[in-house]
Amino acid sequence: MIFIGTMNLTRTRDVGNFLCPACGVAQGYRLRASRPWLTLYFIPTIPVGDFEFFVQCDHCKLRWDDSVLEMNHPNPVMAEENQFCDQAVRAAMLVVLADGQISENEISALQRISQHFWSRHVGRDELGKICSNAQQNRIEAANYVLTVSRNWNQEQRSRALQGMFLAASADGPLDPSQLAILAKMQELFDFTDAEYHGAIEQALEWES
Ligand SMILES: [Zn+2]
Repeated sequence: MIFIGTMNLTRTRDVGNFLCPACGVAQGYRLRASRPWLTLYFIPTIPVGDFEFFVQCDHCKLRWDDSVLEMNHPNPVMAEENQFCDQAVRAAMLVVLADGQISENEISALQRISQHFWSRHVGRDELGKICSNAQQNRIEAANYVLTVSRNWNQEQRSRALQGMFLAASADGPLDPSQLAILAKMQELFDFTDAEYHGAIEQALEWES
């Protein structure tokens, strides 16, 4: 019997200091690169995917998207909107994956939502890549949004919430873990009850 499997090999590519969003102060970090390998008898033989990068805080050990390192560099308006669209798609993917699965309905919903709320065409291959990156790096949805939403304005936050909500509910009722993430967004985005409910209501109107 031949034992074939896969494993992720992770290496440190860089070290430095960054403002850790969880610790709230400057901490050391390691920039880590992980890559899936095919294993034969549990020994990695050939790489089967691209490198994916994440940043790990030396103190709290939480993992962050590598964009956490750029949080202190403001961009021009257009670049900011483009960056927002990319981040919103990724955030919605993380919320969808919070229940441990992704369905055909959810994939096509993510594509429609990206187009409508973020004016961003996302191909299936791109979604697949975002999905495998998310599964490899295990960055939690709320931690990801906490990092990237610092640069989002109020209107972008509202659009991000709407997309995340619709993507997560594309395939029937929300899982408790997804509900918890969406509820946490109110606090992260500093929304009043009225602002939060207004955004959700508006999202439901688009869907119907
Ligand atoms: Zn930390």
